[in-house]
Amino acid sequence: MIPFSPPRMDQHIVDEVSKVLLSGWITTGPKTKLFEQKLADYVGCRKVICLNSATAGMELVLRWFGVGPGDEVIIPAYTYCSTANVVMHCGAKPIMVDIDQKDFNISLANIRNVVTNKTKAIIPVDISGFPCDYDEINALVREDEIKRLFSANTEDQQRLGRILVMADAAHSIGAVYKGKMNGSVTDAAVFSFHAVKNLTTSEGGAVCLNLPEEFDVDEIYRRLNMKSLHGQSKDALAKVKAGGGNWRYDVLEPGYKCNMMDIQAAIGLVELERYDSNLNRRKEIFSFYDNAFANEDLIICPTYKTDIKETSYHLYMIRVAGATEAQRDEIINHIFEKQVSVNVHFQPLPLLTAYKSQGYDIRDYPESFGKYQNEITLPVYFNLSDDDLAQVTKAVKEAVKEVMT
Ligand SMILES: *Cc1c(COP(=O)(O)O)cnc(C)c1O
Repeated sequence: MIPFSPPRMDQHIVDEVSKVLLSGWITTGPKTKLFEQKLADYVGCRKVICLNSATAGMELVLRWFGVGPGDEVIIPAYTYCSTANVVMHCGAKPIMVDIDQKDFNISLANIRNVVTNKTKAIIPVDISGFPCDYDEINALVREDEIKRLFSANTEDQQRLGRILVMADAAHSIGAVYKGKMNGSVTDAAVFSFHAVKNLTTSEGGAVCLNLPEEFDVDEIYRRLNMKSLHGQSKDALAKVKAGGGNWRYDVLEPGYKCNMMDIQAAIGLVELERYDSNLNRRKEIFSFYDNAFANEDLIICPTYKTDIKETSYHLYMIRVAGATEAQRDEIINHIFEKQVSVNVHFQPLPLLTAYKSQGYDIRDYPESFGKYQNEITLPVYFNLSDDDLAQVTKAVKEAVKEVMT
């Protein structure tokens, strides 16, 4: 069976993790700080904080910005549940909008339609690793009329004076937007290092801070760090470093517990070092799929590179032209019977109970449903061989023919 997305775990990782395990320091410490620095260098953003997930990172940023009850946050309907959940955890309302016709990402026109005086943030999602239209989104939140609508409730909101743009970049570390690394083009961007993502720490995430100059990102880092550790005024490392007698700390607010451990950072450091060479194999796989399906009328290949954008090569999302949801599911069953694992990204949120029960209706998101119903994601990972790829493409082509003709 060809798996969908096995993690790349090898002796190098085992060695690095072992060193940390035996070092006397296993929680947040020097490895995490080093990983944060290397990520900031890689992305070219002002500051990075690592946490135990992207979800935690997105929620902490929203909470830092003061998003709460009565506020609205604009998100795409076509995303993973995490994007909506963090907004709901804060007590705010996710305003879901449909995606664009040209790709799987949030539509600029739809964002414009739903901005109100309650809008505090927009969370564009780089589905599959393909960057959203960031120049346009950044320009929109800076338009005079849109800024006039913005009503600031906190000092930080006042300082920004406009809607915050925080990218859900869970898929898109390594993607490029107009010559810049993704993660450096919005106020904040949050990567996921979950086991199935391009770069993994088993579980983990990172917040890239790129707020305008007038923000002290070191200070924001300290506040996010504090929130990630129960609201304690000092983290464990600071207490130890300061020497004896420095055991006393305060709890400034009832915080959360979502710090990254050095055990995780040790994996991340190895992953980051070989990330670009992993990307090269992923690129080859994308080309292989493009070529294999070039003459298949029923198979629509994804857009992942344009003049100004290049994906992180995270997900290869094909669509079967004209397939209904039931036919797509049937095709997937046939593909699995041929010993190939595939997946579906994503069920639009209004299809899921937690959101449907809040009144979100899939009929309001025709583009999202239309794309979802015939979408299939193919395996992409570093050691998928050309023989494996031949098996995948043969299975997909046959399954599509079996069901659609
Ligand atoms: C994986 C994923 C997340 C959540 O990442 P975690 O690190 O598991 O919290 C958020 N958004 C999208 C689009 C994802 O695919």
